[in-house]
Amino acid sequence: MDQYIVLVAAIAGIAGILASISILRRERRPPENPFAASTEGSRRCPSCGMGNGPNERQCSSCGANLG
Ligand SMILES: [Zn+2]
Repeated sequence: MDQYIVLVAAIAGIAGILASISILRRERRPPENPFAASTEGSRRCPSCGMGNGPNERQCSSCGANLG
């Protein structure tokens, strides 16, 4: 009976560790680009994320080629 309790405790501990790891991995994910919401429908600079007009060929912020 004691062995069963130890086994259950070990499984619970492993499950808790795995849950903690999955939470930490989720928190480590990079945040969404803050420029994404404000530049919807425009050409977003691949270099700095600045939103540019649809006809712009160069980024107005950093001068990168927008393609
Ligand atoms: Zn740029």
